[in-house]
Amino acid sequence: MAHLLNDQRLIAKVKAWMEPILASGRPDGWFGPEKNKDRWPLAVAMKVLIQYQEATGDPRVIPLLQNYFKYLKTAPPDWPDKEWRGVRAMENIIAAYWLYNRTGDKTILEVADSIYINSFKWTDYFLNFPYTDEVMAKGIKYSHPTHVVNIAMAVKHPGMRYVQAHDPKLVEAVKSGLASLDKYHGQVTGRFSGDEHLSGRHPSQGTELCAVVEFMFSLENLAAQLGDVYYADRLEMLAYNANPGTCTPDYWAHQYDQQANQVLVSVAKRRWSTNGDASNVYGLEPNFGCCTANMHQGWPKFVSNMWMATHDQGLAVIAYGPSSVKAKVGEGVEVTLVELTDYPFDGLVRIRMDSPQSAKFPLHLRIPAWAAGAKVKTPEQTLDTRPGSFAVVDRLWKNGDVLELTLPMNLRTETRYNNAVSIIRGPLYFSVRVGEKYKEIKRHHETLPALNWSIEPTTPWNYGLLVDRENPEKSITVEKRKISKLPFDQQNPPVVLKAKGRVLPQWEMVQNSAGDPPLSPVTSDQPLVDVELIPYGNTRLRVTEIPVLAQ
Ligand SMILES: [Zn+2]
Repeated sequence: MAHLLNDQRLIAKVKAWMEPILASGRPDGWFGPEKNKDRWPLAVAMKVLIQYQEATGDPRVIPLLQNYFKYLKTAPPDWPDKEWRGVRAMENIIAAYWLYNRTGDKTILEVADSIYINSFKWTDYFLNFPYTDEVMAKGIKYSHPTHVVNIAMAVKHPGMRYVQAHDPKLVEAVKSGLASLDKYHGQVTGRFSGDEHLSGRHPSQGTELCAVVEFMFSLENLAAQLGDVYYADRLEMLAYNANPGTCTPDYWAHQYDQQANQVLVSVAKRRWSTNGDASNVYGLEPNFGCCTANMHQGWPKFVSNMWMATHDQGLAVIAYGPSSVKAKVGEGVEVTLVELTDYPFDGLVRIRMDSPQSAKFPLHLRIPAWAAGAKVKTPEQTLDTRPGSFAVVDRLWKNGDVLELTLPMNLRTETRYNNAVSIIRGPLYFSVRVGEKYKEIKRHHETLPALNWSIEPTTPWNYGLLVDRENPEKSITVEKRKISKLPFDQQNPPVVLKAKGRVLPQWEMVQNSAGDPPLSPVTSDQPLVDVELIPYGNTRLRVTEIPVLAQ
């Protein structure tokens, strides 16, 4: 983030931590704290070192990593199933491939083989996913394989192995693993539940922030490894919904667990698997400090992966959003492309060449699976596209050339728990807008706005919605507004959906969360009133899985 923003104060902060890490290498190849022989913190440090080298070109990074892989080559495998370093061992392979691509040293791939063979068998786990409804109903023993952050990291592990082993079974493991997670633990915004551990599909269960940002990073890796638009579609859903929705709009406070139907934020008992009472509070480090550290990887890694290099010396747009990229393309010409857009709130994306030197290269534009009828307009022609694929534009780009991509953002619906409905537009989920009253519950600093907040509802949340699932546009209108400086602020949502609904008096709170959404279709004797829906990312109180009124 420091280098993406070119923020000198942050860069100085980063350097103060990087210098001791870079100076810690020992003759046997180990680095980091001398006495601690746990390999897990080093896997994290290597991911940091990679980013640091890419941002600064620091010549000390590659030798440090080379020495550590020499250490791993000679030291016995130490990836026990019951320890973090074992269940997360494949995270080391990120550095292994990165280093191999820069050095060509084949012994690094042998270390990668050894890690895959001697660590937790995630491929088998995803091919035969153990935590089905039937198993969950009997009650499960919480352990590493039920831990939400472990799973969010591990979904990329078979994909990473595929890069080296080319076994189709590995791709199948990723696909069937995600399908099983959706089936048994799926939540809106593409995440799965885990309030610390897997906890089913009920929309009042939580997902830990660490799992959101790690899942995003996994999807960024999967998009690169497998080149499948599906992973990028899902990445945007997490990035533009779950990621902002679990933080305050100014990013000073975040939650441990977020809920799809989140109608009260407070210190109280909830039906979490194991998390504590402060888990849905927005604050500096509610419940536990891991998310405080981890939240910062969400946006910067997303931005770093919006654009990718392609095998045909071109560029691919993996995720859309206001951005620019500088890259060598075609015959090695350095170009700058600027993306001008209000995405994810609007579907018009304009890409402009901002370089004095012309260059011929292919540009691969991701056409999301939801964007049927998307059109690409170049200076020469207008092209039709196929949803769920890349549209390739191969042309000679001159300074100032503009390409226009129009992604139609028709409303869509998704059937959820108890036959409730969720409303989606483009990559954004929409939630019933609930009045939010913030209350300061803890102040961490005298002058900085580092606070813990509880949030109480000031308006009803328990609506049934009048909606035609097949043709949501018949009963819901879309209103576009100006994007404010805080795009995910509840007060100024850039898009508002207007619908009609009735309060459902039978739908109440249970254990400080919204109870089961009454099974749809529902009836109510309450008056028909206007109901506003705003993007999930703009809400801190919300109902996203909404009962549907009988027509
Ligand atoms: Zn966490």
